[in-house]
Amino acid sequence: MLTIGVSKSKDMNNRLYGNLIFELSKEGRKGYSLPRNNFGDYEIPVSMQRQEEAQLPECDELTVVRHYTNLSNNNFGVDTGFYPLGSCTMKYNPKINEEMAALPQFQNLHPLQPRETVKGACALTVLLEKALCALTGLAHFTFKPYAGAHGELTGLMTIDNYHRSHGDLQRKKVIVPDSAHGTNPASAAVCGLEIIEVKSTQDGLVDLDDLERLVNQEGNSIAAMMMTNPNTLGLFEKQIPQIERLIHEAGGLMYYDGANLNPMLGACRPGDMGFDVMHINLHKTFSTPHGGGGPGSGPVGVREGLEAFFPEVSPYNGNYSVMMRAYAYILSLGRENVKLVGPLATLNANYIKESLKDVYELPIDGLCCHEFVFDGLKDKSSGVTTMDVAKRLLDYGYHAPTIYFPLLFHESLMVEPTENESKETLDGFIQVMRQIADEAKNDPDLVKSAPHTTPIGRVDDVLAAKHPVTTYKQMKNEQ
Ligand SMILES: *Cc1c(COP(=O)(O)O)cnc(C)c1O
Repeated sequence: MLTIGVSKSKDMNNRLYGNLIFELSKEGRKGYSLPRNNFGDYEIPVSMQRQEEAQLPECDELTVVRHYTNLSNNNFGVDTGFYPLGSCTMKYNPKINEEMAALPQFQNLHPLQPRETVKGACALTVLLEKALCALTGLAHFTFKPYAGAHGELTGLMTIDNYHRSHGDLQRKKVIVPDSAHGTNPASAAVCGLEIIEVKSTQDGLVDLDDLERLVNQEGNSIAAMMMTNPNTLGLFEKQIPQIERLIHEAGGLMYYDGANLNPMLGACRPGDMGFDVMHINLHKTFSTPHGGGGPGSGPVGVREGLEAFFPEVSPYNGNYSVMMRAYAYILSLGRENVKLVGPLATLNANYIKESLKDVYELPIDGLCCHEFVFDGLKDKSSGVTTMDVAKRLLDYGYHAPTIYFPLLFHESLMVEPTENESKETLDGFIQVMRQIADEAKNDPDLVKSAPHTTPIGRVDDVLAAKHPVTTYKQMKNEQ
């Protein structure tokens, strides 16, 4: 637990939060009992013995149980509250997915088992691939990538392999919109490709004139164009037919970042729009808990013929339990309900946007898809920033939206409610956001010093970034 630069606070029982298990240690306390040693004495060679005593905490069992239970209660998740984190699709993860993923018949499989003993698992992979093909309009999927960014890399490697096979070794440039998710240029760079940025127009869409200029300029060095649609501003890129024609005529391929597939579900398909390669974040659109950084799955889909160029990016078959959750999710929604996901996610986002745009700055007006971006408070005279609003939301029991991303605006605050939330939840959030706007006007210091009710108060970001204390020993030495 990072304590430097943090104002410590106490809970109702006056118990200091943030105690490390090491700080609860009392010499000689034991919370374990080991079975009798049945193997006789064995001398560990001196060279392999540790030179100093292991610095382990010594606690009784109940203290350990309470410590970790209390820590776990500090977690915030979709199951505890509204989590409108833009570009992350923090939707409800139905519990049946967990039950399915935990079935011992699947959970206890070993990837090297003989093929005839894993027919069920193989069948599930095929069925999931079929479902994803039906939803995206593409022909084949590989499930090897472990996350969205890994999928991007895999997709770009597929494209690179394709161009090489045609002797097009000079096709090394990838066009990426300036609104793109940061992983897009990063993946292109890791793949050894060069990034060229295409500008956005005032309405937040790809600037066609700029794209045409780039295509004329770069010609046959273009490997691909990467697009997110709806884009990172939550806007549907209306000019995909024109964009697709420009890129394909120049000999490039179209890559679709499908991390934000949620609003498209049941509405339209990347394959039908002329995209050649895409990845899907199963952990976002198809519901796997992913707030803590994993596990993920970023399957890559391609149009017919490109599957021959899939690279080997992981051993075996990817993150199988995430695939099971995705398949359970698709089946429990069914063909009819899957069509409601996109429209309801879109409705919820627009409802919040329209209810707040008189107090928060909406730089790009009009219909959004699953998410939208405010540029801070409309009235900026109080000096209350997006960061302050986000911190104050914590006091009211909400997870903060994504902030300071996308980089197109100074005070970006990006809200994605997902399709699962009830009208009452949305109304509660709207009311609190309006309340915070009021506070910013009447009592700005209250907002600027938030959060006030969380276990840890306002973190000193600069100190935390420049002087992170990540080990207990280091902390002790500093006291
Ligand atoms: C989340 C996201 C990614 C990255 O996915 P990871 O699984 O976190 O690697 C890429 N692009 C977009 C648009 C995203 O929202």
